[in-house]
Amino acid sequence: MMKHWPLFLISLLVWACNNAPETPIANTEKLSSLPQDDHSYANLKQIHTKHLHLDLEVDFKAQTIYGIARHEMQNNGADTAIFDLKGLMIQKVTLGKKGHEKETDFTIGPMDKDSIIGQALLVDVDAKTTDINIYYQTTGASAALDWLDTTLTSSKTKPFLYTQGQAILTRTWIPLQDSPSNRLTYSADVKVPTDLLALMSARNPTKLNASGMYHFEMPYAIPSYLIALAVGDIGFKDLGTGCGVYAEKELLKSCAKEFEDLPQMMNVANELYGKYRWERYDVLVLPYSFPFGGMENPMLTFANPTLLTGDKSLVSVLAHELAHSWSGNLVTNHSWSDLWLNEGTTVYFEQRIMEALSGKEVADIMALIEFDELQDALKEIAASKNPEDSKLHLELAGRDPDLALSDVAYVKGAFFFKTLEQKVGRAALDAFLKGYFAHFAFQTIDAETFTAYLEANLLRPQSISFNYKQWIYDKGLPPNCLELKAPRLEQMKGFAKQYNAGGNPFKPTYRYKWVRKNGKRKKQKIDLTIRYQDRIIQEWQIFIRNLNTNTSVARMRQLDQALHFSSSQNSEVLKEWFVLAAQTSYALEIKKPLTDFLVKVGRRKYLMPIYEALQQNPKTKDLAKQIFEKAQENYHSVSRSSVAALLK
Ligand SMILES: [Zn+2]
Repeated sequence: MMKHWPLFLISLLVWACNNAPETPIANTEKLSSLPQDDHSYANLKQIHTKHLHLDLEVDFKAQTIYGIARHEMQNNGADTAIFDLKGLMIQKVTLGKKGHEKETDFTIGPMDKDSIIGQALLVDVDAKTTDINIYYQTTGASAALDWLDTTLTSSKTKPFLYTQGQAILTRTWIPLQDSPSNRLTYSADVKVPTDLLALMSARNPTKLNASGMYHFEMPYAIPSYLIALAVGDIGFKDLGTGCGVYAEKELLKSCAKEFEDLPQMMNVANELYGKYRWERYDVLVLPYSFPFGGMENPMLTFANPTLLTGDKSLVSVLAHELAHSWSGNLVTNHSWSDLWLNEGTTVYFEQRIMEALSGKEVADIMALIEFDELQDALKEIAASKNPEDSKLHLELAGRDPDLALSDVAYVKGAFFFKTLEQKVGRAALDAFLKGYFAHFAFQTIDAETFTAYLEANLLRPQSISFNYKQWIYDKGLPPNCLELKAPRLEQMKGFAKQYNAGGNPFKPTYRYKWVRKNGKRKKQKIDLTIRYQDRIIQEWQIFIRNLNTNTSVARMRQLDQALHFSSSQNSEVLKEWFVLAAQTSYALEIKKPLTDFLVKVGRRKYLMPIYEALQQNPKTKDLAKQIFEKAQENYHSVSRSSVAALLK
């Protein structure tokens, strides 16, 4: 992408607010000859950041971060250093160590055609330059930043700020070389209002500091998308064994209870694939507008409060984020085209943790639910204008890398490893993965490097052939894909079939049997009614998914009265139910719980299917618009723009 800029674009060069250099064309032409990541302008081969120090001041009133990004470079003789930025105002650039800085010339290139990768910042350097300092501030277009005013927090009295860097949003709050192929260590000095705590994906404080100044160190080299910051009225609770939880104070107690098994998950993970390499593992539970289930920021996973169900039924998301401490954070995809190496490995690893905690039957049910979603995704992709997106390795040049965040990378990726496990045996695959994480620790990896390592360390030594090329470079699912069976899910499908045919498997059902008590024969009543709490949420998900989309409103109401789906505390069940409610127009009868959910929760995984179903039914189309009107202020820009595009 953007390897050859047309001349007319070069003439549209955007200038920095002050200190405009005089020969921009010669400078930006350097961009055209550089080998680079499809989603970064950085000339990493010539010069790259080894360590980044951030001096930041967070101003909630102006919703702006004022920053200096101090880059320590590995310089291989470059005369220009190229950084990525988007939605930032650059004030000046200096060279040299703090206190000995000299201003230098810089140029800002034009925005790419579709505003995906942003702009290049080209800084004049010489072959000896090692320190580059970029003075900047964020703007309203800094999409990584979610500024929540007091109404959107639990306290209702203190504001909150958090960042989301993946895939290429870190460049919207820090000017840097924003490619996952470059690993850097970082440190930061951050000034925030004195009543708020600052946290980063680094060594963190556990208490408020009266000065409002916080110092952070991330001593392990990470890709730039994992740099993260959160500021709010946050408390901390230690869970033991190097694990803890941060949350707004109102949520802290329920978070600690919900996540109390974290130390146990950590033990399982360590046992499986080698020692945890990041000192502590803490989780920060964010306010409801957070667009993702979790984000694996090292040392400090960001988690969505929809995980707080009161019954630990969604803790697999934490198992997932914890697994990323190996797959993704320790061994990272070299570019977004191989996101499956981050996510497929992680989903496989997550399922292994869940199997150790909850048993194989439950782990298989969870895997099958995801496989069911993959089937739908594959059908959609096959009918789309990019049917090749069902390959594990994707071609993303000129496209938004967020497209890679689909069920293909996650679930097809996981089934790649599950199928491989079936072929080579669990012990052999575990030994291979343990070796793989150790061998590539703190490095980046692409599909070719992975398959060469797989051949050399697993397949050839065991004389096994495995069709990995077909899995990675062909569309859809190969015929040898592992088939899982879960009798409990089959039973739920059976219930749905009965209900679709007019029956009601949930009506009160009793059996009587004669028992002998104190010498007398007595009739005893046995309750056989199937109740919501008797089944795990994945079973209810499958049940709802298998109901007819033309179920009558009266029959929907009958189900709701028996099973109370509309008032479920579980967001996964609510999502399935609200989608069906939209398809059947029952949504018009349960406007209140539906609206409350969509106004409160900003997680894209739930918003998108519900809004889509509402939009597709002519009877509920207006309702979708009304709710979005009310809810959009609560959403992160990532979710807001996705829903807005859908409803257009
Ligand atoms: Zn993940």
